[in-house]
Amino acid sequence: MSAHIPFMHLTPGEDAPDIRAGIDRVIARGWYILGPELEAFEAEFASAAGATFAIGVGTGTDAIALALRALNIGPGDEVITSPLSAAYSALAIMMAGATPVFADLDPDRLTLDPARVEAAITPRTAAILPVHLYGQPADMVAIEAIARRHNLVIIEDACQAHLASSAGRPVGTIGAAGAFSFYPTKNLGALGDAGAIITNDASMAERLKRLRNGGQTNRYHHLEFGVNTRLDEMQAAVLRARLPRLAGWTKRRRALAARYRSALNGAPLTVPPECDPGHVYHLFPVLSPARERFQAHLKASGIETLIHYPVAIPKQPALDGIATTPCPIAERVCNEVFSLPLHPALSDAEVDTIAAAVHAFPR
Ligand SMILES: *Cc1c(COP(=O)(O)O)cnc(C)c1O
Repeated sequence: MSAHIPFMHLTPGEDAPDIRAGIDRVIARGWYILGPELEAFEAEFASAAGATFAIGVGTGTDAIALALRALNIGPGDEVITSPLSAAYSALAIMMAGATPVFADLDPDRLTLDPARVEAAITPRTAAILPVHLYGQPADMVAIEAIARRHNLVIIEDACQAHLASSAGRPVGTIGAAGAFSFYPTKNLGALGDAGAIITNDASMAERLKRLRNGGQTNRYHHLEFGVNTRLDEMQAAVLRARLPRLAGWTKRRRALAARYRSALNGAPLTVPPECDPGHVYHLFPVLSPARERFQAHLKASGIETLIHYPVAIPKQPALDGIATTPCPIAERVCNEVFSLPLHPALSDAEVDTIAAAVHAFPR
């Protein structure tokens, strides 16, 4: 009998009654935008993330773009970021009017290589946007030292790294701001689009609340050019129902990853190392030069896999003429990487089944 193991599982489970109660509460109140659910979620998420303030916005992309704008980073400024990520990391820099500049990867960690970041600095560089990719934190000790030496701001793309820590410090609190996404597949997901920015700076928090709401100070008084990107009450209520479970889900992700690591010992593919115990395993990427055949083999065994990501961001047509520095490590990873299923509802037995199918790949 063949297995059937889908890549993800997005139907609420144990959290369903609390989600339902939260949605009912919003409907009974009859207030949908900028209300008590968002205010409560912002306080609860800030506390969980180890920050003083959280500002809810419409998406993770908007979270990055608004954090840049709140720091006055825009046209004429360069922002150094990773060539391997959801393309939204770079698109958010462009939304702010700034120019993304790509530095290649640390080949083990698959996040920004600090030495290459330093080499990419020009007189126009204003900020560094490290991405804590797949839930593995970037090397923030080294990146912070570079930022300090060159007087640059750091904004962390923590969209895949809820509750992760880098050398013991919560991600998103190391730089001036951290951006999170609550897209449904993320470690903390809404039932739609949502995002947030965290910061410890009160005046930045205040400006972000204005920028997400058309630049208004009070109703119908627009002090500056803002956008319309708010985390609505319904999604805030859903996220509040789920947030208390996030630590447990993260523990489960780590346990599943540890089981994969031992079960995949000697398997005919490469498992990237865990470079920091603060890794939260948003995904479980593996690499093989025979990716296409490997994915087909697993599919025939009933196991669904996905590619994160098939194209390095600087190679995307959307960035034609923008990115000039070659990123050969990121390009190789994009040709070889694919993700095995990993989510809190996955069972130990399913990990064992997947690992057995991996070992059975004809070399
Ligand atoms: C999901 C994601 C984003 C964008 O978040 P959205 O909520 O989809 O806009 C940005 N960066 C990374 C690394 C992501 O995984």
